[in-house]
Amino acid sequence: MKNDNPSQMGKPHTLILSDKRALRRISTGFQWVYANELPSMKGFESGDWVELVTGQGEFIACGTINPHSLIAVRVLSRQRVSPDTSFFRQRIKAALLFRKPLVDTKNCRLVFSEADSLPGFVTDILGGRVLSVQLNTAGAERLKEPYLEALRNIFGNLPVMLKNESAFREIEGLNIETSAEGNVPDEVELAENGLRIRVPAKEGQKTGYYFDQRDNKRRFREFARDDALDCFSYVGGFGLHAAERANRVTFVDSSASAVEFCRKNMELNQFDNGEFIRSDGFDALNIFVDENRTFDLISLDPPAFAKSRKFLPKAEKAYFRLNRLALQLLKPGGVLFTMSCSRLMEASLFDTAIARAATASGISVRVIGRLHQATDHPILPSMRETEYLKGLILKREN
Ligand code: SAH
Repeated sequence: MKNDNPSQMGKPHTLILSDKRALRRISTGFQWVYANELPSMKGFESGDWVELVTGQGEFIACGTINPHSLIAVRVLSRQRVSPDTSFFRQRIKAALLFRKPLVDTKNCRLVFSEADSLPGFVTDILGGRVLSVQLNTAGAERLKEPYLEALRNIFGNLPVMLKNESAFREIEGLNIETSAEGNVPDEVELAENGLRIRVPAKEGQKTGYYFDQRDNKRRFREFARDDALDCFSYVGGFGLHAAERANRVTFVDSSASAVEFCRKNMELNQFDNGEFIRSDGFDALNIFVDENRTFDLISLDPPAFAKSRKFLPKAEKAYFRLNRLALQLLKPGGVLFTMSCSRLMEASLFDTAIARAATASGISVRVIGRLHQATDHPILPSMRETEYLKGLILKREN
């Protein structure tokens, strides 16, 4: 069933779907069919284009299949389409149009997988100069050429950085690889909430920047005074937002390159009140506790601790420990922005971990806000899986 040219699909492979739950879910806009909902996937290869049909042969939806993944089919359309350049051009243009009134479309996530009806495809635009692409499924990998061609059609000669490094790819049985198409600069300058932020375009984490925190960073700025801490800072997004109002901003990250970018970005915005610490986050917080250091404002934005369900108990413990430490560092009246980007760590679980941390620390706090992923990472009501970033703003009693 190998088809090397998926943009000219010829006859698609049909697959009968009769599982009632799966059918109902698809009709609400859900885009996955699980392996156990399909009778057999024999004869299909990873990434094949399939048409789902009823037992009577009626068309349901089309998409890609990966017989080796628990999420076997990813639906790209409930209309009969061919996944060619013109299809992708339409979808990407729709994604762009959706974002135009919401964000600066030179600095944003342009395509957010299922949320843009493009499961497996992620694309950010960095400073209007580089497109950073992740292909996270076997289907997306197979459709790489028409997808990239559509991007080229819309964005002319913008260089493309393929950041095919996500953990999803391993689950899908794909290689981890990065490559540049066109002249990708090592670094790019972004604009965010009035700040200048340089990010690594080639060697950066994920797609190079975390646009999903844009709105949360803007709120962070409002609470800044005296001493601020940006723990798990990456290139300094949260701390930079606090720098104008705070006397001192402390950046902590375990990546030497990230800490170097924090330093550069503070300079670039003409702030001279930064302290830069390359350290494990837990270690740094423990040392601050030992030194009796305290902060008026803290951002705690660790990497995803729960990459799969089996790591959830461990992840809960990690959030508990981190937050207990961070709460101990809050001055009376101080504010903690605490976040989790693990999709599996649902809001109620996260809330519980935080409540336990508050009790264990003996620090009395109240929730004054909830944090979410920014508007260029929209959530599908029919697919809660598209919601992953959550957080709380906690204020300590005076
Ligand atoms: N707050 C950032 C994004 C943080 S992503 C923003 O909004 O832009 C998580 C960061 O944690 C990464 O920069 C990564 O280098 C760092 N990191 C991962 N494990 C760490 C650890 N054990 N200690 C400190 N930093 C860590």
